[in-house]
Amino acid sequence: MSGAPSTSTISHEDVLAWLRVYAQVIADNRGYLTDLDAAIGDADHGANMDRGFKAVIAKLMDTADKDISTTLRTVGMALISTVGGAAGPLYGTLFLQASQAAAGKTALTLSDWATMLDAATEGVIKRGKAGPGDKTMVDALVPAVQALKGAIAAGQSFPEALQSSARAAEHGMQSTLPLIAHKGRASYLGERSAGHLDPGATSSYLLIKAAADTWAGSY
Ligand code: ADP
Ligand code: MG
Repeated sequence: MSGAPSTSTISHEDVLAWLRVYAQVIADNRGYLTDLDAAIGDADHGANMDRGFKAVIAKLMDTADKDISTTLRTVGMALISTVGGAAGPLYGTLFLQASQAAAGKTALTLSDWATMLDAATEGVIKRGKAGPGDKTMVDALVPAVQALKGAIAAGQSFPEALQSSARAAEHGMQSTLPLIAHKGRASYLGERSAGHLDPGATSSYLLIKAAADTWAGSY
């Protein structure tokens, strides 16, 4: 990103940088995400996400000269074909919806980014049929979108808005701790799912935080 925060935009290079940073964050948190999934699922969320984002990075080497929408579609397809389980189709949908919302754009404004994250989140909700409070990745994504919209309405700068959305995603992730899961594998545990963070909400928080960290760094 370049220029004054109020007029700056996210380029294709910035999107690639975000994806590279996230792939590294997932590799670093592979064990942690798997431990979270061991408590309320089948102990594979870290391995699933790491496999998926390693495939994403391999694919992105071929798309460095393309546009934002094409890159995001490539990410979604790579995740769907390599991750499996619940997270593969859900994260795949997230990136495919973001890709559609970015169609034709060579750079993203703050409002474009909010529109994309909103479409991506709605796609996850439609696909997985989970709402806020069901103890899923939706619990991190919905507050992130709301915070972005609020930040825009309040006239915050691009970096401030990104930080607001990352903080909201973090709170959303933390809010899953006491919840009883109503969707996905963790719901099989019923009340025993309470007292543990949701692994998908954690990986979704890390996705939003990676965007804030990567893009704030290039101001
Ligand atoms: P699996 O549950 O198939 O083993 P993962 O362990 O990779 O897949 O992913 C589990 C995460 O997927 C959960 O922590 C939750 O956040 C998310 N998840 C599962 N089902 C749904 C759903 N229906 N809607 C939204 N997110 C879901
Ligand atoms: Mg699992």
